[in-house]
Amino acid sequence: MMIDYNGILEQRIHNLKQDGSYRYFLDVQKSARHFPRFYFEDADGNKRSAINWCSNDYLCMSIHEEVINRLTRVAHQSGTGSGGTRNISGTTVYHRELEETLAALHQKEGALLFGGAYLANVTTLSTLAALIPGLVFISDERNHASIIEGIRNSRTEKIIFRHNDADHLEQILMKLPPEQPKLIVFESVYSMNGSIAPMTDIILLAKKYNALTYADEVHAVGLYGNDGGGISAALGVRQGIDIINGTLAKGFGMTGGYIAANRVIVDAVRSFGKGFIFTTSLPPAVCAAATAGIGIVRDNPALRTAFHKNVKRLREVLTCYGISWLYNDAHITPVRIGDAVLCQDVASRLLHESGIYVQPVNYPTVPKGEECLRIIVTPRHREADMIHLAKSLCRDAIYRVSVTTRGRRDKSRLYISTGTPINQQ
Ligand code: PLP
Repeated sequence: MMIDYNGILEQRIHNLKQDGSYRYFLDVQKSARHFPRFYFEDADGNKRSAINWCSNDYLCMSIHEEVINRLTRVAHQSGTGSGGTRNISGTTVYHRELEETLAALHQKEGALLFGGAYLANVTTLSTLAALIPGLVFISDERNHASIIEGIRNSRTEKIIFRHNDADHLEQILMKLPPEQPKLIVFESVYSMNGSIAPMTDIILLAKKYNALTYADEVHAVGLYGNDGGGISAALGVRQGIDIINGTLAKGFGMTGGYIAANRVIVDAVRSFGKGFIFTTSLPPAVCAAATAGIGIVRDNPALRTAFHKNVKRLREVLTCYGISWLYNDAHITPVRIGDAVLCQDVASRLLHESGIYVQPVNYPTVPKGEECLRIIVTPRHREADMIHLAKSLCRDAIYRVSVTTRGRRDKSRLYISTGTPINQQ
């Protein structure tokens, strides 16, 4: 019997399209000069422009002159690719410099670079499980796909604790044998709902029950703490986290990922981690530019101040126009839609009718029913951009209100705004 391989795959894709989870990409012509404005071609081939409201280039470091200059200078000097794995001529002075910069930022003995934080999570978690007999993962239920993948790859025992629930974490820890090795895995800032982990409580529990801690600070590095060291830096608890995972691709505006930890952990992952060993290292110019970006972010708290000021202002403007957003203490402003098809529909209308590019976030990135527009503001967004966004959401969106003000949850209800700011109604 012939097997219809394409037919099997097409059916899966069809199912995605049916439930609104199919991903459509927009070919963005990114502009270093005009960011957050960018250009794209519509379906009729017309050149259009829009404002990007979903970039994770939080501090606009990808368009910083000094970063671009270092990238181009080192590319001219060293060429583009590294030409090898870290072991086979792919470790340059720029890799070393970047790892030292990252270790210092997180006040750790060492750091290790990867192609991305995804790979860093998968490799580190599965490698530790392979090296530490009987290791059990205790993982937050909302952890990122890369963490889930790393734990799954390890084929070791895992126990899930309720999202950000330290009491539930303790209930789990107290039932485990004291002699069993344990690794608590969580994110400091959750990328879709912006919730922040109770890091200090987790560290205290880890000490009490002799567990290791692993914090994914991907959405926090560069943005929190006096020097941009993340939530662990902001809370002054860097030493309490055994392994920090971070990205170079968001707050630092480059590409690549890393872990920072003590000398032994870094050496173990360096020596045994397949996702570290058997892949070409980052280009030298990327490492050099990332080091430059980290230096700028570290030494300029004003960048963080401008960023958080804009987050606050955006939320004020949205609230003023009657747009409900899911409250959180971080910088991510989700507007709940609660339906996958509607979510895509609203995002598409915003792009084509209002020149606003905002990402619809659907299952499996968020649980079904929590579909949202995930809005990201940067220091380069102006007040006029925010008002345009709010007015367009009012005009175009029929969306579900889920959380209106701090801590107060509404029952989901269909909401059509009048488009008039609340204080003028
Ligand atoms: N961890 C979290 C929480 C993320 O949201 C992401 C990606 O956005 C990653 C890890 C992967 O980061 P990278 O893009 O550097 O691979």
